[in-house]
Amino acid sequence: MKAVRRFTVHARVPDELTGLTELATNLRWTWHPPTRDLFASMDDALFRRVRDPLRMLAEVPASRLDELARDPEFLARTREASEDLRRYLTEPRWFQRRVEQAGDGERFPGAVAYFSMEFGVHEALPNYSGGLGVLAGDHLKAASDLGVPMIGVGPLYRAGYFRQSLSLDGWQVEHYPVIDPSGLPLELLTEPSGEPVHVRVAMPGGRDLLAQVWQARVGRVPLLLLDTDVEENDEDLRGVTDRLYGGDDDHRIRQEILAGIGGMRAVRRYCELTGHPQPEVFHTNEGHAGFLGLERVREVLAAGELTFDEALSAVRAGTVFTTHTPVSAGLDRFEVDLVRHYFGDGRLLPGVDVERVLALGAEDDPRRFNVAYMGLRLAQRANGVSALHGKVSRRMFAKLWPGFDTEEVPISSVTNGVHGPTWVAREMSALLGGRDEEWGHDGDGSGIDPNVTDEQLWALRRELRGNLVEEVRRRAREAWLQRGASALELGWTERIFDPDVLTVGFARRVPTYKRLTLMLRDPDRLRALLLDDSRPIQIVVAGKSHPADEGGKALIQQIVKFVDDPAVRERMVFLPDYGMSMARYLYRGCDVWLNTPTRPLEACGTSGMKAALNGCLNLSIRDGWWDEYYDGSNGWAIPTADGVTDPLLRDDLEAAALYDLLGQQVAPLFYDRDASGVPRGWISMIWHTLRTLGPRVQASRMVREYVESYYGPAATTVAAATADGYAGARSLAAYRARVDACWPLVRVVSTDLSVDSGDAFVVGSPVRVTARVDLAELDESDVEVQAVVGRVGDTDDLADVVTVPLSPCGRGEFAGTLRLPFAGSLGYTVRVLPRHPLLASPAELGKVVLA
Ligand SMILES: *Cc1c(COP(=O)(O)O)cnc(C)c1O
Repeated sequence: MKAVRRFTVHARVPDELTGLTELATNLRWTWHPPTRDLFASMDDALFRRVRDPLRMLAEVPASRLDELARDPEFLARTREASEDLRRYLTEPRWFQRRVEQAGDGERFPGAVAYFSMEFGVHEALPNYSGGLGVLAGDHLKAASDLGVPMIGVGPLYRAGYFRQSLSLDGWQVEHYPVIDPSGLPLELLTEPSGEPVHVRVAMPGGRDLLAQVWQARVGRVPLLLLDTDVEENDEDLRGVTDRLYGGDDDHRIRQEILAGIGGMRAVRRYCELTGHPQPEVFHTNEGHAGFLGLERVREVLAAGELTFDEALSAVRAGTVFTTHTPVSAGLDRFEVDLVRHYFGDGRLLPGVDVERVLALGAEDDPRRFNVAYMGLRLAQRANGVSALHGKVSRRMFAKLWPGFDTEEVPISSVTNGVHGPTWVAREMSALLGGRDEEWGHDGDGSGIDPNVTDEQLWALRRELRGNLVEEVRRRAREAWLQRGASALELGWTERIFDPDVLTVGFARRVPTYKRLTLMLRDPDRLRALLLDDSRPIQIVVAGKSHPADEGGKALIQQIVKFVDDPAVRERMVFLPDYGMSMARYLYRGCDVWLNTPTRPLEACGTSGMKAALNGCLNLSIRDGWWDEYYDGSNGWAIPTADGVTDPLLRDDLEAAALYDLLGQQVAPLFYDRDASGVPRGWISMIWHTLRTLGPRVQASRMVREYVESYYGPAATTVAAATADGYAGARSLAAYRARVDACWPLVRVVSTDLSVDSGDAFVVGSPVRVTARVDLAELDESDVEVQAVVGRVGDTDDLADVVTVPLSPCGRGEFAGTLRLPFAGSLGYTVRVLPRHPLLASPAELGKVVLA
C-alpha cells in the first residue's frame, strides 16, 4: 500500500503556458489526439511513459518549460489548442439544435444528473472496476460531444481500482494503490469563502458523515466525486469511500446513502455555486444510487405543503432507472433492520417516514429491502440495456405489475453504446476519413471515405495487430518478472505471438456466467487450433476476478496453467491487470473478439462493440447486444444449447460449436488470400461491420435515444407535474388514492363481440366490441377500457395481442370497432386500466381489471 502519487501542478508552469493547465485538467484530451500531440511534443519520451498531461506538467523539467515558454511556435500551438477547447465547450451542438426544433409540447431538460457508483473515463482517473463504470464514462463523453447538459455524480474511492498480478502458481494477487486526489485531474469544489464544500448526511447515533466534492471536467460535463476522507469525519466514516464494492452490507449501505443522498446534495450545491441549471431529470446507472429519489422527496416535502404521495408523484416524473442485472439473485438487497437503522431516527431524511421508505423496497421476503424495487417504484421510466435484456427484465420484475402480460411490463430498453473517439484507433479514424469527434455520428456509416481500398484497410489491420503483439510481449515479460522469473530466462517472451497470425481476444471480468474457461473445455482441440501448421490462431486472454470470488480466481489459474505450457505459450497468453490501458490495444489489434457468456446472463456487453469499431469481427454467443445486432455477415454467432439444463453438457456443446466455427469458418476465411495477399472475404466482412454496425454501437446513438425517449418525455412530465404549485403532482396523487380505494370494486359486467350483418369472420373485417363496466366510484374519464384480441392455442391464453380502446357511451357502456388482425383461432377479452395524463404508461400503476 504505497504508490501514493504526489506532485505539485501549478507552481512550476510559467505564465505564458497557463493554457496548458486547462488543457491538462479537462479530460477531453483523453479523446482528442491533437491535444495529446501537443503535450507529447513537450517531451516525447516522457509522455510515452506517463501518458497523462497533468503528470507531464508535473514531471517535465523546469528548464524545458522555460524553453517552451519562449518558443513562439509552441505558444501558438498552445493558443490554438486552448481556442479549440473553448469552442468545444461553448458552441451549440446536437442537443441545442434539437431543442430549437422541439415540437409543440415537447420539452427537454435544462440539465440531467447522472448517478453511478463508478466512472471509467481514463486510467488517469482510476475510479472504476469494469464495464459499468466504463459505460458511465462513455455516457458522459457522448453527452458532452452532443451538448447534452449533464452532471455526473458518484463516489471517489481512495482505492477505486485494484491492480492484478499473478503468483508463481497462477493465483490472482490484488494490490490497492492508494490515490492522492490532489495529483489527479480533479479540483476541489469550494465555497465562496475558499473553504471546501462539505456535503453532510446524518448517520445513526447523532453523527454526521461529511464528504468533500472533487470536480473532474469531462469535456462539457462536470463530474462530481464525493470523498469522505476528511479530517472532520470519525475514523470509521473516513473510510466510507475507501474501496469500490468492498466490505460488508453496512459499508455498502453507507456508500449508497452517500452516493444517492449526498450525491443529490452535492449536485444542488454545485449548481448554486456555479450557476449551472439545476437538473430536472435524474438518471441512475443501476440502482445503487437510488436513495437519491428519497432525498428529492424530502426536498419537496420541506419546500411546501405536499403530502408524501404528492411529492412522490413529482419525483417519479423526473427519474430514469437503468437496470443492468439479468438475475434476481444479483439484485442489490439489504436487511430491513439495516435500512431502519439508518433511516429510522428521522435525521437522515427529516420529514420522510421510515415506513414509507421500507414500503418502497418491499419484496416477497419481509426481512429484505430490495434496492432495485425501490428504484422501479421511484422512477416513472425504466429500461434494460439491450433488447434481450429488456425482455429478461420485464420477466424478472413482472411481479411488480401483476395482471399484465410480461410484454406489457413498462420496462423498455436502450442498447448500450461505446464512445467512438475514445475507442477507435486514431489511425483508423484517419483512414476512414472521419473527423476525430464525428466518426459515425451521421448514423448511416456514410461518413466513411468510399475511396479507401481493401489493401489500405488490410495494411492498417496488420499494423494494429503488430502494435498488439509488441504490447503482448512487453506485458508477458513484465508479468513473468512479477511472478519471480529472472530476466535471463525470459528471452522467449520476445518471440511470442506473430503479427501475421489470426488473433483472437477474450477479456472481461470473471464472474461464472462469462465462462472464461469455456475455450479450455477440450484442451486438445484448442491446442490443435493454436498450433495448426497452415492456419494457426493466437489468443490473448485477460480478466480480473472480484477479490472475494475464489471461484473466479480458480478459473484464471486454470487458464494460466494452460498457457504456462511451453508448447502453447507462443500462441496463447494470459495478461494480468486488464484495464482501460490494456483494453485499448486489445480492441484495436485483435481480428476476432470472442465472447462466451451463458445466455441470457450478459445484459449487454460493450467490449465487442469497441472491437467492431476498429474492424475486429465478433465471434460470440447470441447474448446481450449481439443477439440484436448480429446479422449473419458481420461476424459469427456461436449456437447456444438453450434448454439443455445440465450445465456441463451445455458447455460441451457450446465449446464444440466454438471450435468448429474457429477451425472451419473463421480461420479459413482469414487465411484465404488472393494473389496480392489480401483476404478479400475477410475484408468485406470488416467493411460491412464498419458501415452497418459502426453507427449503431456508438454511445452517441445511445445518448440520443435517452434524450428522445427518456430525458425529453421525463422533462415534459416533470413540467406538467410541478407547474402551478405542483398541481399536476397533487392531481395524480389524488387520482392514485381514488384508484386505490375503488379498484377492488371495478369489474367488467358483460362484453359482446359482433360482426356487422352479412359479414363473416374474415381477416381485416371490422367487428364491434361492447362492454358494460361497473366503475365503482370512478368516472369514465378515469379509466381506459380496451378490447384485446389475439391468437389462442390449446389454452385460452392470448398471444400476439392487439389492443383497441373502447369509447364511453354513458352509463358504464363502452364500445369500439376493431379489425380482425389474423386468420386462425382468435380470442378476445376486455380490460380496464387506469388513465391519467401524467402516467407514462397504462401499466404504470400495476392495476388492471380483466373481464
Ligand atoms: C468495455 C470495457 C469493459 C466491459 O466489457 P464487457 O464486454 O461488458 O465485458 C470492461 N473493462 C474495460 C476496461 C472496458 O474497457
